[in-house]
Amino acid sequence: MTTIAGKTLEQWVEDYPLIQDLVDLKVADWFNPEVLPAAEGLAKVGLTVADVDDAAARLKRWAPYLKQVFPAARPTAGILESPLVAVPTMQAKLAERKGVEIPGQLWAKLDSHLPISGSIKARGGVYEVLKHAEELALEAGLITLEDDYRKLDTEEARKFFSQYKVAVGSTGNLGLSIGIMSAQLGFQASVHMSADARQWKKDKLRSHGVNVVEYESDYSVAVAQGRKEAESDPTAYFVDDENSPSLFLGYAVAARRLQGQFQSLDVTVDADHPLIAYLPCGVGGGPGGVAFGLKTVFGDNVHCIFAEPTHSPSMFLGVMTGKHDEIAVQDFGIDNLTAADGLACGRPSAFVGSRMQYLIDGYYTVEDQTMYENVALLAQTEDLRIEPSSSTSFEGPFHVLAASEYLERAGLTPEKLAGATHLTWITGGNMVPDKEMDSYIAKGEETL
Ligand SMILES: *Cc1c(COP(=O)(O)O)cnc(C)c1O
Repeated sequence: MTTIAGKTLEQWVEDYPLIQDLVDLKVADWFNPEVLPAAEGLAKVGLTVADVDDAAARLKRWAPYLKQVFPAARPTAGILESPLVAVPTMQAKLAERKGVEIPGQLWAKLDSHLPISGSIKARGGVYEVLKHAEELALEAGLITLEDDYRKLDTEEARKFFSQYKVAVGSTGNLGLSIGIMSAQLGFQASVHMSADARQWKKDKLRSHGVNVVEYESDYSVAVAQGRKEAESDPTAYFVDDENSPSLFLGYAVAARRLQGQFQSLDVTVDADHPLIAYLPCGVGGGPGGVAFGLKTVFGDNVHCIFAEPTHSPSMFLGVMTGKHDEIAVQDFGIDNLTAADGLACGRPSAFVGSRMQYLIDGYYTVEDQTMYENVALLAQTEDLRIEPSSSTSFEGPFHVLAASEYLERAGLTPEKLAGATHLTWITGGNMVPDKEMDSYIAKGEETL
């Protein structure tokens, strides 16, 4: 008999009845009763605020370089940061469609508009490449920590980096970030793309001189191949999306900057004004890192909820069963095929689920057609064009509001909800070609 991490599917369903809904591709949610207060949960992560400080300082050292080589990073002086905007028209439209008012205010964090790759991967992915490049350059005496890193935008530096390789496995956006950043520095970059990766992302990378290796299979295979290639080559560095603390810390830096953005817009986050963040989740590094950062900044006043496609609820399954990366959605007969290419990771990160499980309040799934509808709605209401993965975040408030047991446990009373900030993390979209974006919107409009 085939078993999944030691049990049959029937036994799993008996122990966790929700698994049947996931297997049936039904929209589902789960609010983890084992979540801990922020202080206790943070102590289990194995990383600290000092680690996030270190990442932020490193990004600051690189800012002059980034400003010089990426025109899109000039208006922010080389700090790769995205706008925070209120989306009141979307809030009203969603409420009207669902027949449920969203108490508080709906905001969107537009990582879709980050420079370099138009996605959240411009945080973690770019950060890890910069960290690796800095280590090599320091070791070779090309720079000191006090130098102006524009020194690394020279033929000599590029020639130095060209002795080294950077490899990564990706569903698209991580490859885009790692590939573009690595090629800019002079590295030989190889991106192993899963079958989900869109053609335009591969074309774009090739135009930057990146070696794109294509697979017919899913993300785990692309990652395994990238890892294998790098293992046998001492000049190669593999960015391991399934296990990387560096990626995680690159994402975490977002939270402290968000705190400043909220302050500048006079948005209060405190015990009476909770922040509820809805984070699209693939392998888990992006939302996990951001959630870690948010918890270090806002503590118990922030509630983090992960969104996944009905066809790829990997973190949901991994945390609920406690089996994390020992299981993949495919083991349960779930196909991992979804319009949310950025979230098509069938096996969750080993690193994130086990460390972050006590800090993530809940998980929910979203159907592909709902993603398209939300893409179309956001374009109509706020003139924002985002990719389907990102639009999963707009379902979050409705799952939270319907979860009475969770609301009580989390102390989210009607009074507090009236003062809540609902933050949808918009993880990608700005670089999607117009034609492709128009087709997403048209697909959504069909059923609106
Ligand atoms: C990668 C990605 C995510 C999720 O990040 P993970 O680290 O894979 O969990 C969400 N949205 C988009 C658009 C992405 O590209």
